[in-house]
Amino acid sequence: MNRTVAGGFWLIIYLIVILSPLFFMMIGDTPPERPFWVEFSVGLGFVGLVQTAVQFALIARYKTITAPYGIDLILKYHRQIATIAIGLLLAHPVILVIHNPGLLGLLNPVGGTMASRAGNWALYTFILLALLSYFRKRINLDYELWRVTHAGLALIAVVLAHVHIRLSAYYTETPWKHGVLIGISVVMLASLVYLRLIKPALLKRRPYRVAEIKAERGDTWSFTVTARDHEGMRFRPGQFAWLKLGESPFTVEEHPFSFSSSALEPKRLEFGIKELGDFTGGIGQVPIGTTAYLDGPHGAFSPDLEPAAGYAFYAGGVGITPFMSMLRTLADRGDKRPIVLFYGDKSWDATAFTDALAELEKRLDLTIVYVLEEPPEDWDGESGFIDAGVLERHLPEEGIERLHLVCGPEPMLDAVGKALEQREVPIRLIRFERFGLV
Ligand SMILES: Cc1cc2nc3c(=O)[nH]c(=O)nc-3n(C[C@H](O)[C@H](O)[C@H](O)COP(=O)(O)OP(=O)(O)OC[C@H]3O[C@@H](n4cnc5c(N)ncnc54)[C@H](O)[C@@H]3O)c2cc1C
Repeated sequence: MNRTVAGGFWLIIYLIVILSPLFFMMIGDTPPERPFWVEFSVGLGFVGLVQTAVQFALIARYKTITAPYGIDLILKYHRQIATIAIGLLLAHPVILVIHNPGLLGLLNPVGGTMASRAGNWALYTFILLALLSYFRKRINLDYELWRVTHAGLALIAVVLAHVHIRLSAYYTETPWKHGVLIGISVVMLASLVYLRLIKPALLKRRPYRVAEIKAERGDTWSFTVTARDHEGMRFRPGQFAWLKLGESPFTVEEHPFSFSSSALEPKRLEFGIKELGDFTGGIGQVPIGTTAYLDGPHGAFSPDLEPAAGYAFYAGGVGITPFMSMLRTLADRGDKRPIVLFYGDKSWDATAFTDALAELEKRLDLTIVYVLEEPPEDWDGESGFIDAGVLERHLPEEGIERLHLVCGPEPMLDAVGKALEQREVPIRLIRFERFGLV
């Protein structure tokens, strides 16, 4: 199945699943009809609940689901869907109260009936979960703590919503109907068990060992692990893996990093890691010999996924790492297609891997254009940001179809995206990778 077909297939499955409660509730015995707005609001509640349950499957890193889109897009979708789902769940009581203001008392979280209380608490839990996600960075909530809280609150909210439905017993008084609804949620929640228990148990059989840690420029480290008694990990250049350090693969702490080594060496895997926070700040001091686990490969950002006559790579800061893997792999394969690499960073001293890139220039048909925000005085290269002007000067209009791959901070992705649009590059030839998943 090609990626567009696969993408469309999963979208249709998604729509069928979230709309399925509406069909099930209409089959067989149905309760007496109520006014339109009451039925409408109940329908929104059912769809909103299934949407929130499906969120668990979206983030479980199932490769068949993520492959057509890439995990960054799936997570973006997860956030947008969450907003829609909470909107639907909120609309459910609001419409009921607008239709019949006498029901206002049911919105009291400590008053009303048991059914309404369970519904209220489910809704408030979903809202708390969304607020914590939205303001996580602003309130400095630790990423790992947020992740555990996020999963816990979601679980509690879904269970409370089912209690509300069961106690309301309208449309679900027939046991099989509520069974179907619970079944959908249980299948989705099983994704959490898969991600947090089954997957780590499988990783336990494939440990790695930290073999080498080398300082690069720009607060970046080349971090190498080797496979311990197994064949390692086959990946496509540009993909990434979640890295866990220590003896237990069940640890909550794991961080995504792009491979920077050649895909032709699956047993010796290298990552380029920039010091940024708690985990990456200590990466240079990890003892050699430490056990590591890798959940991967993941991602749909790779030159191997689309045929092309040449490439244009755009790297911003540590966004250079997937391109190191692509360039190393293409060089090892003896690839002779033309490549232009635009590499933007703050200063020359912040620019990592310059020696390795100089070596790669000798092995490939590669042109490197460094773009420095704060160039040294004697700099005669490009300065500022990678924008339409830089592309105009260095990207020949030679009539070959290049694949354009862009990885860097969000403003850079926007600027390059706009410049490529101006050059009328077809969208199918452009791929982005975002390092800021959450
Ligand atoms: C697909 C992908 C590929 C990446 N590749 C690289 C790479 O090759 N080299 C590199 O240096 N960095 C890469 N990153 C970024 C890297 O994962 C984060 O810089 C790192 O996780 C920050 O952790 P910290 O504890 O040091 O920083 P913190 O200060 O704790 O976190 C800084 C921010 O990083 C994000 N973050 C923290 N922990 C995680 C996590 N476990 N998962 C996802 N995001 C997290 C959060 O938004 C957080 O606010 C990549 C990210 C993604 C999503």
